[in-house]
Amino acid sequence: MSRFITERLSALTPYTPGEQPKDMVKLLKLNTNENPYPPAPGVAELLNLSESEALRLYPDPDCALFIRAAADYNGVKPENVFPGNGSDEVLAICFLGLCPKGAAFPDITYGFYRVCAGLYGVEATVVPLREDYTVNVDDYSGLQGTVFLANPNAPTGISLPLEEIERLLCQDRDRLVVVDEAYVEFGGCSALPLLEKYDNLLIVRTLSKSHSLAGARLGYAIGRAELIADLNRMRFSFNPYNINRLSLQAGAAALKDADYFRRCRDSIIESREYAMGELRKLGFKVLDSRANFIFAGGHPKISGTEYFRRLRENGILVRHFEGPRTENYVRITVGTRTQMERLVTVTGMILEG
Ligand SMILES: *Cc1c(COP(=O)(O)O)cnc(C)c1O
Repeated sequence: MSRFITERLSALTPYTPGEQPKDMVKLLKLNTNENPYPPAPGVAELLNLSESEALRLYPDPDCALFIRAAADYNGVKPENVFPGNGSDEVLAICFLGLCPKGAAFPDITYGFYRVCAGLYGVEATVVPLREDYTVNVDDYSGLQGTVFLANPNAPTGISLPLEEIERLLCQDRDRLVVVDEAYVEFGGCSALPLLEKYDNLLIVRTLSKSHSLAGARLGYAIGRAELIADLNRMRFSFNPYNINRLSLQAGAAALKDADYFRRCRDSIIESREYAMGELRKLGFKVLDSRANFIFAGGHPKISGTEYFRRLRENGILVRHFEGPRTENYVRITVGTRTQMERLVTVTGMILEG
């Protein structure tokens, strides 16, 4: 560490991204919840064209093309959409400026929340999930900090019903609730219908998983116009050209191709159900996933750590999280049917051997 870093930040434990192996040929990569299918055909078409020449120009700071597409996709107005360089950036801006009384989130959830709270010096209340890994909304009653909930949650995949989100919003209408819907397209239920009734709700989305654009870094928030304006106040004070030209175009093209999106999503859901069923037959506990990953473990014969290691030895990379309630599980990204068949076959071999 240099002697130049701000003292408060010298103690930060940064987020650890899942491994991005260089040798993609050998490893089946099921560790960071990427979509196994390429982006919509329109995306490639557009990137090959004259857009590269336009790279000498700054992108549109208002992100109008992308915002219009995201608004149409969700049936809201452009004034309700805030654009981010990945939803991680949207979340970071929320921690930066929308947590005047701290933040609250589950003990087992997206690790970035804890990291971001640390970065901005936001006091965080960590609320344990129930024994069965579900969120107990009552545990948030009386907490004043901005609530961050991933729904479906990660890495469990469990979805919280809309009524529960509504109860959370009602507990304190002066407390903001940020619902991170990174995986909602794979079978969760969106809080979008609640926006009409509640101004203390902010929904965060990403194109990384649902629209095969993890590499483009595109996310957005949906909320009441005043809240979106506040987010923009911060964005224009931090990084006004936060989304590059190519990504703006790619995102708009991907969001507009509803048919392609549905086909890919449906295949992933089908592969998920197949893999969940097979892993259960092989003796794993598999939580009820509504996302594009499954959380499997609790096997009588093999620990989570060992299963992770043996899969890797056999060319399959999944994600393993340390910690008492997660270490006996692994998180497996749902790939194509063929990829899931390979996972099941290799798992069978590991258990026999
Ligand atoms: C992947 C993920 C994100 C980050 O998405 P990006 O848009 O790629 O930054 C946010 N929240 C959750 C819960 C995620 O799993």
